[in-house]
Amino acid sequence: MALDAETFDALIDTVRRFVTERLRPLEADVEAQDAIPEDVTAEMKAMGLFGLSIAEEYGGLGLTMLEEVKVAIELGRTTPAFRSSFGTNVGIGSQGLVMAGSPEQKAEWLPRIASGEIITSFALTEPDVGSDSGAVKTKAVWDGQAYRLSGTKRFITNADKADLFTVMARTGDAPGGRGVSAFLVPRNLAGVSIGEPEKKMGQKGAKVADVIFDDVVVPVENRLGAEGEGFKIAMRVLDRGRLHISAVCVGVAERLIADCVAYASERKQFGKPIAEHQLIQAMIADSKTDALAARALVLETAAAKDAGKDVVMESAAAKYFASEMVGRVADRAVQIYGGAGYIADYGIERLYRDVRLFRIYEGTSQIQQLIIARETLKRGG
Ligand SMILES: Cc1cc2nc3c(=O)[nH]c(=O)nc-3n(C[C@H](O)[C@H](O)[C@H](O)COP(=O)(O)OP(=O)(O)OC[C@H]3O[C@@H](n4cnc5c(N)ncnc54)[C@H](O)[C@@H]3O)c2cc1C
Repeated sequence: MALDAETFDALIDTVRRFVTERLRPLEADVEAQDAIPEDVTAEMKAMGLFGLSIAEEYGGLGLTMLEEVKVAIELGRTTPAFRSSFGTNVGIGSQGLVMAGSPEQKAEWLPRIASGEIITSFALTEPDVGSDSGAVKTKAVWDGQAYRLSGTKRFITNADKADLFTVMARTGDAPGGRGVSAFLVPRNLAGVSIGEPEKKMGQKGAKVADVIFDDVVVPVENRLGAEGEGFKIAMRVLDRGRLHISAVCVGVAERLIADCVAYASERKQFGKPIAEHQLIQAMIADSKTDALAARALVLETAAAKDAGKDVVMESAAAKYFASEMVGRVADRAVQIYGGAGYIADYGIERLYRDVRLFRIYEGTSQIQQLIIARETLKRGG
């Protein structure tokens, strides 16, 4: 259910001020330390950011998709690692439970996820299984009393601090996605171990690592949905996550455009601010047009999802367009800043590296193209 307009406006205002006054000054530190300060995490928990998408009855804010993307746009105006620290609780780590969990599973986990007391991660990708995600090799074998889970998951966001994993594993002989089931796997079960965090191109402060399951005994009560439903659950989770990511891309693009306008208005060459050179204006115009188009697509798709429409194609299109769009905007920002765009102190090169990920995770651009084409052909246009 949507918040009343006044409450929602107050939330947006609070998030905007938090991003501007609290988070932006910390961006260089987060990059240098490769960590989010603990007091900031505590403040984000207190603001309810870990439970944006979780129903109020479980202690979350229960935002609609439209409200969530508006908040995500605000959060996009700073280093994406801040959002990533609670992004799995709001998105891919919790939504399988929200969509397919039993009342008992929800009551057990959702309140602690919404408050940020526990961190959740989504474990689908494997060393040999990426875009072809229905081909998971991790196995969950029923031994008559419980499932025995074995396999390795790769590049799992927030694995280093996660308490609970939504894990996709093969339970039967059915080929592809039809043989995949979803499980809630607490970190503290015997046989669960976490690899060293990977060194990454950007988004410092947000960690990814392997998660290894070595003959982990998982009770049947921890299965999400029926056997064989895991892949469908994963696809629904990603469908929603794509809109959230698209909104973050819009936020980063808007931030970069504002930075470019400020810099181009100050920096003088040939006797006048570079903002007065028309070739600089052309880049600003292209970036603004790109960002406006992505914003409109994201907001319209979120509203359609709230109205119960099938937005599989539109969500993929939003993710595809917005993630490619922010890449173009970041590239132009480096150009507008000139040499300063390449130098760490100005922060532009950091965002340039940060946004590269958006074209890769939660389905690469190529996978979004395949979904858009498949759905468009199915719909006849
Ligand atoms: C920082 C980071 C965080 C991540 N977080 C998570 C997480 O929390 N949980 C999780 O499960 N995973 C996560 N991932 C994994 C991510 O979702 C995958 O990396 C992504 O889906 C691509 O899979 P892959 O890396 O195996 O690439 P591949 O699938 O090997 O793709 C390589 C290239 O081939 C292309 N390609 C593949 N198939 C086709 C096709 N049919 N047609 C055309 N082109 C194709 C791809 O688009 C890509 O360009 C994360 C990854 C990163 C880098």
